[in-house]
Amino acid sequence: MMAQYRRIKSQLPPNTLLLFRLGDFYEMFYEDAKIGAQVLNIALTRRGPAPMCGIPYHAAGTYISKLLKAGHRVAICDQVEEAKPGKLVKREVTQILSPGAHLDEQLLSSDRHNFLAAVHRSGRTYGLALLDLSTGEFYASEFPTLDALTAELYRNAPAEILIPSETQDLQQLTAQLPSTVAHEYEAWTFLPDVAETTLKEHFGVATLDGFGLGNRPAAIGAAGAILYYLKNELRRDLTHVRSLRFLAGEGFLQLDPHTLRNLEILEPISPHAPRNASLYGVLNRCVTPMGARRLRQWLARPAGDLTTIHERLDTIDALLQHPELLDDLRKTLSEIRDLERTLARLSAGQAGPRDVVALRTALRQLPALREILWRLLTETQREWLLTGTEGTRRDPTSARQEDPHTRLLRRHLDAVEPQPDLVDLLERALVEDPPATLKEGGVIRPGFDPQLDELRSAAREGKQWIAQLQQREIERTGIQSLKIRFNAVFGYFIEVTKANLDKVPPDYIRKQTIANGERFITPELKEMEAKILGAEERAVRLEQELFQNLRAQIIDRLGPIQRTAHALAELDVLASLAETARLYNYCRPTVQDQGRLEIRDGRHPVLEQVQLEGHFVPNDTELNDQIQIAIITGPNMAGKSTYIRQVALITIMAHIGSFVPARSARIDLVDRIFTRIGASDDLARGQSTFMVEMSETAEILHHATPKSLIILDEVGRGTSTFDGLSLAWSIVEHLHNVVHAKTLFATHYHELTELEGRLPRVKNYNVAVREWKDQIVFLHKIVEGAADKSYGIQVARLAGVPEPIIQRARQILRNLEEAELTPDGKVRPISRHRRTRQTLKEVPPPAQLDLFAGMEF
Ligand code: ADP
Repeated sequence: MMAQYRRIKSQLPPNTLLLFRLGDFYEMFYEDAKIGAQVLNIALTRRGPAPMCGIPYHAAGTYISKLLKAGHRVAICDQVEEAKPGKLVKREVTQILSPGAHLDEQLLSSDRHNFLAAVHRSGRTYGLALLDLSTGEFYASEFPTLDALTAELYRNAPAEILIPSETQDLQQLTAQLPSTVAHEYEAWTFLPDVAETTLKEHFGVATLDGFGLGNRPAAIGAAGAILYYLKNELRRDLTHVRSLRFLAGEGFLQLDPHTLRNLEILEPISPHAPRNASLYGVLNRCVTPMGARRLRQWLARPAGDLTTIHERLDTIDALLQHPELLDDLRKTLSEIRDLERTLARLSAGQAGPRDVVALRTALRQLPALREILWRLLTETQREWLLTGTEGTRRDPTSARQEDPHTRLLRRHLDAVEPQPDLVDLLERALVEDPPATLKEGGVIRPGFDPQLDELRSAAREGKQWIAQLQQREIERTGIQSLKIRFNAVFGYFIEVTKANLDKVPPDYIRKQTIANGERFITPELKEMEAKILGAEERAVRLEQELFQNLRAQIIDRLGPIQRTAHALAELDVLASLAETARLYNYCRPTVQDQGRLEIRDGRHPVLEQVQLEGHFVPNDTELNDQIQIAIITGPNMAGKSTYIRQVALITIMAHIGSFVPARSARIDLVDRIFTRIGASDDLARGQSTFMVEMSETAEILHHATPKSLIILDEVGRGTSTFDGLSLAWSIVEHLHNVVHAKTLFATHYHELTELEGRLPRVKNYNVAVREWKDQIVFLHKIVEGAADKSYGIQVARLAGVPEPIIQRARQILRNLEEAELTPDGKVRPISRHRRTRQTLKEVPPPAQLDLFAGMEF
């Protein structure tokens, strides 16, 4: 047996734990046993010289989940024939599971994809493929730089990544993705020729052009290698992987990893924050897991084209104009669960009766859903016709084909195919509420299969016969308490209590003595038992066959049902966005491509829902040809960060096609949002705050374009005041004169407000505060102009700094403010405002870095 073990183990991919079935256990040996015992916290024993540990077969699932969670690949080796005494039983690896390739419901999170990724470089282009085995979704894309590839990986957070062996640059990736398991995989499977053949064979196509992959060797390499790995290395069935979508590496609103994190797009930074304290958290009112996953994808990768954005806005508009249809739509969708994952389990042969029932339930909703979409479509069309943007009425029949406002709805309506004959079949075949497994039968509905009905009635009649037998025996023996019972060990038996043992007839055969009586059998009882059990066993086997048959018929429709699921996911997201818009009074943004970002009464979508219900002070924003850079000053706690983040969040929302929290908004296309915010979480990475700050700033200065939006919060804070101020100053100049990107710059350097007037497209704003009896009151209102005071001491008092210290600080401040610049150019402490006012006068515009030239410090 150990020789068999070693042979099987040697055929596995490296770093794969072998779970070797031995009777009622899966055993691990040698190194595997040591790892297994540690991860699973179970006892390590020995078999001869070999360390060994085992997990019970019937509870294997939980243990396997833990191994996968710890990042291990697990090969399941089963006994594939009946064990015979004295003969080595045949064993085979039936599947290999890995973190990026499993359908384990305990591990999958319903609102996240579980991606397996592969990367490949061809020339200077980086290719990426992502496959979610649990839904069948398969994407490929290409990127011009390693950074762009890394960003995309970060956005999708794959569970496992395949890297072609011996490619050093790609191996660096693993350091950037700490929660991803990386495996090196044979480089030849990534070669474009090999990969192309793998893909063509899998999809049964002659060319990859249809997938948008023609002449994209980097993407092809990655995608082909994933399929090869899953099929050959992990021996997986990929029937449900029916299509591959090429996602352009550009042409969407790019959000790099720290922007996604800093703006808390998908999750809050602080682990203590409420769970919904992220943009995803407050927008997500999806009623299916499919919708939730799709919304996350939209947010991580907002659309960058007007058509997509307008189509979605139109659909949300339509839903909001017909709130009753929106309610109906969400109610109907909520009956549909995770259709995508159900289909994946079905096609992998891992689906139970309840999966098929879930599918049936989902399919049953489709006619009603189509009805809702149809009504929405016609009503909307009528409306658009009456209020047509061009002001002219068109012929309704021709409009149905052309009207751009209902294009998305029409596409979804087409994609939702109800499959009435399949529903009918499943209706007839399956009971309403079947057990979780097929082991005991009871899944197939009576009347569906005559042979099954016969077997069942044979079993039933047998049982009736036994019930009658009990009555007959009571009469024959005169034992009133005589009972015929059943258990799994003895089958049917007759039970007689102690008091009546003297009345037992001689033809009873004693089987067992129990506390208060004895158990007997008779030959005729055993004969009937054999008939019943035989019939039951055959019935269960037949049910299993019938079930497999149903499964095959579902697989036949896999493509169309997947298309339906895809449409349902998107409808769910749109309905969710409409619902949020309705609840929080969002407006429809106007989105064009002319570089304008203008918001009236904008709000921070997360704060207004999570922290400040009803108390949020709305603010305006205006960035366009005339105003490129807004410098926002104001005391700490005034609301500067909130404001600049809110503009970024509203911009992202508009790009996913959502309504936005504002009275009105004009949000034109943006190619990338850059952020330089906060530093608290960078410290953990062991870099100095200032280094991180400056490397992020450098990245912005290198990559921003006139179409980008830049959010800068307190740049320069990590170094001395003068260094910081000088850097901030020259950065603003560069953004203004060279980069031309729209910028919101929140700063505590009041000196920067001097830039207004020097640079034509810079404008000052500040957050209004009121002074009241030596206290300050934050109004949270953004107003034009520079802040006139910093109020640092008042804020310190608010924060609870003891009064004597506050008083002393006031005194020092007064002294500083009274100090002067000496006539010979030496500096004595003076007020920050006056200091810059004086010195800046000498700086020739455009100001250079010699901001403080001539001054000695
Ligand atoms: P700053 O960046 O100026 O130090 P923040 O943006 O962090 O200030 O805001 C501090 C606090 O003020 C926020 O946590 C929030 O409670 C409140 N706040 C900010 N903006 C608003 C607003 N527009 N309306 C109401 N409260 C606000």
